[in-house]
Amino acid sequence: MVSKQLQAQMSEWRHQIHSHPEAAFEEKETAALVGKVLMDLGYEVHTGIGGTGVVGVLHCGTSSRAIGLRADMDCIKITEKGKHPYSSQTPERMHGCGHDGHTATLLGAAALLAQRKNFDGTVYLMFQPAEEPGTGAQAMLDDGLLKRFPMDEAYSLHNNSLFRQGQVLIRAGQFFSSEDDFVIRIHGIGGHASAPHVTKDPLVAASEMILAMQTIISRNVDPQEAAVISFTELHTDGAVNVIPSNVTLSGDVRAYSPEVQRLVEKRMREVCQHICEMHDMTFEFEYIHAFVPLINDPVCTDHVLEAARNIVPEEQIILNAPKCSASEDFARILEQVPGCYFILGGGRKEDLSQEFPMHHSCYDYNDDILSLGAELFAEIIRTRLPKK
Ligand SMILES: [Zn+2]
Ligand SMILES: [Zn+2]
Repeated sequence: MVSKQLQAQMSEWRHQIHSHPEAAFEEKETAALVGKVLMDLGYEVHTGIGGTGVVGVLHCGTSSRAIGLRADMDCIKITEKGKHPYSSQTPERMHGCGHDGHTATLLGAAALLAQRKNFDGTVYLMFQPAEEPGTGAQAMLDDGLLKRFPMDEAYSLHNNSLFRQGQVLIRAGQFFSSEDDFVIRIHGIGGHASAPHVTKDPLVAASEMILAMQTIISRNVDPQEAAVISFTELHTDGAVNVIPSNVTLSGDVRAYSPEVQRLVEKRMREVCQHICEMHDMTFEFEYIHAFVPLINDPVCTDHVLEAARNIVPEEQIILNAPKCSASEDFARILEQVPGCYFILGGGRKEDLSQEFPMHHSCYDYNDDILSLGAELFAEIIRTRLPKK
């Protein structure tokens, strides 16, 4: 059980972070708070990892086994509309994704682990910057995270207000999708709208491309798999009576496996190339991998299930949770370390559709799930490291 005192302390940390939100790689004050709390709890503290990342290390006993737990610290770049005593004091910065809660949760777990010391091995608590743009985990990895803190397994969680408070959602294998962003620039020859025969109209080519690429999902991707191609922008340099010379298309692609992600990219490039060849036009095709798919290790997923069963009633555990078409930066760590990412429900309203969803300007993390998250993390450590 988490003491009343620690519960209050976690809320206080959360409110402090909430009122001073910091976006990707700006998390200086948050990192300083994290570092101070960890230091006071007796952790070895490493700062400045991948920019503003912090790792707290707690050794106990003599076992060489090590487990990593991770929280994200960054906010999103919108202005908070909700009114709380601890509302954001910075315009265009708010904790609208609950990373304030994740950080406070992992600090709560840090306190429980330091107090209980009921494990033999090493715990690495990773506080990462820049989850929202999907670059913070990679920045920590590039800064030698896993070489400096070699871990056998890694775990993390995300809150979600659209699931009931206290529910734990677990899924083995594919869970969160990749996110890729693309920009296609098509170059033709513009001219008078009344004389298309002396132009090379890139807008017609772009229109064919948008339609042709729909068949990648319906005709190339295995129907057992899921993927999304969304064209979200189309810009031309034409006018009402001017056929454009240039068209720029951009959009977003999602997939749940690296194989499908590669297939979609390859087919998009081919379709683009062949349509431009057909219309005698040149093009540039830019494709950016923002997030990789998040895939939970099945064995580690069972470990989370075991820990959850020790903490929450069976009816609150949702096994085989639905896949999520959002993306999550922890996937980069799970590419290199077996582990599991799970969701903690935070919805309080009877009708969950009335809850503010994440990234809404009135969203606020539910303080009542802080201790559950901390207990789950502490229980994962107790069950995954040898007994002391
Ligand atoms: Zn978010
Ligand atoms: Zn988030």
